[in-house]
Amino acid sequence: MSQSLSNEQLIDIANEFGTPVYVYHAEKITEQFQKLQEAFKASNARFFYASKALTNINILKHIRSIGCDVDCSSINEVKMAVHAGFERQNILYTSNGIAFSEIEEAVALGVNINIDSLSNLEKFGKKYGHSYPVGIRLRPNIMAGGNLKISTGHEKSKFGIPVDQLEKILELVEQHNLFICGLHVHTGSEIKDVSVFMKVAEIFFDLVPHFPELAYLDLGGGFKVPYKEEEEGTNVPLLGEEVAKFMQKVKETYPHDFEVWFEPGKFIVSECCYFITQVNVIKQSGSTTFAGVNSGFNHLIRPMFYESYHRIINISNPDAPKHTYTVTGNICETDTFAADRQIAEIHEGDLLAFYNAGAYGYEMGSNYNSRFKPAQVLVIKEKPHLIGRRDVWEDLLRNQVEISL
Ligand SMILES: *Cc1c(COP(=O)(O)O)cnc(C)c1O
Repeated sequence: MSQSLSNEQLIDIANEFGTPVYVYHAEKITEQFQKLQEAFKASNARFFYASKALTNINILKHIRSIGCDVDCSSINEVKMAVHAGFERQNILYTSNGIAFSEIEEAVALGVNINIDSLSNLEKFGKKYGHSYPVGIRLRPNIMAGGNLKISTGHEKSKFGIPVDQLEKILELVEQHNLFICGLHVHTGSEIKDVSVFMKVAEIFFDLVPHFPELAYLDLGGGFKVPYKEEEEGTNVPLLGEEVAKFMQKVKETYPHDFEVWFEPGKFIVSECCYFITQVNVIKQSGSTTFAGVNSGFNHLIRPMFYESYHRIINISNPDAPKHTYTVTGNICETDTFAADRQIAEIHEGDLLAFYNAGAYGYEMGSNYNSRFKPAQVLVIKEKPHLIGRRDVWEDLLRNQVEISL
């Protein structure tokens, strides 16, 4: 059975730690990682958790403890991963548009690196030549992903070196005797269609002969998770089978046994988390009933930013008859969490749990409107632990420099 937290557990946590609060469930993270291991066991697969989805140090430590590696989007995430105890060889820095100085730092730390521009590849070649293996991040010119904001592989996307610039890549490789150890593509987020991953794989297939020192093929992240009850995510077992077949073909053709790498973010942490808010006001307005909660897009920006869907359960009153509500925040801008949604009858003071809040939830939060960022709680073996305290007044002023005026 799938791991989840009960409404009663969530209510207890809200009572103990206050709201709004992000509640994570360690065993659910483990379950998701095990699904991946199981699906890809026929391939020589490695999984690098895309830590930008959720970087709390305790989450990182848990992920390390279950044997998952880590992918980073900034040098600070790399340092966070080191801080969490990951070995250098289990850290991957997939860069995009970064200053070369960050790549130098990453080399000094000894982590794996994927480079995403000809410019940085050239600087890398000049400085390190053949002495440090490096992967290249390619852009396959494939349109995929939940929507344009989270799509990264299409031909207008800034990410990666366009595959049609292969000749330039090869010139640089030859000129500087670069040690190209990996090829990487991340086509976007919420890719349900297995064939998108396989299209990228086919692009890799044709590129392999150009890079004799290749050790890994990195298919990126972007597995879709279900948001609605009846919805399905990426068929990971099917993807596992297709990838195994593909890797077998690669092995027979070239003959070389590559590792296949993945960088799942959402898949690992989206479903492990419930964001709990409390209803401040019920407001009737024409045909709309607003349920205004003690949060806003300062705490969970995904609905306003990507039109993402989060299931909302009235955990105080789950079995009451359903009515139609528009759930909004308390920010002085439109911040709708859900419009015209069927939810069990809501009274002021009720607790609403937002599902799928683990990935890009707390992480994209801010102090907009001078509100405190929420507390974070991690449940391990039924026991809740505070892993991020709610902001206090001093936090709002901490980085401000008061000059004499
Ligand atoms: C964001 C990102 C991921 C993870 O994407 P998810 O949709 O969360 O799985 C993986 N790789 C790279 C390079 C990314 O930028």
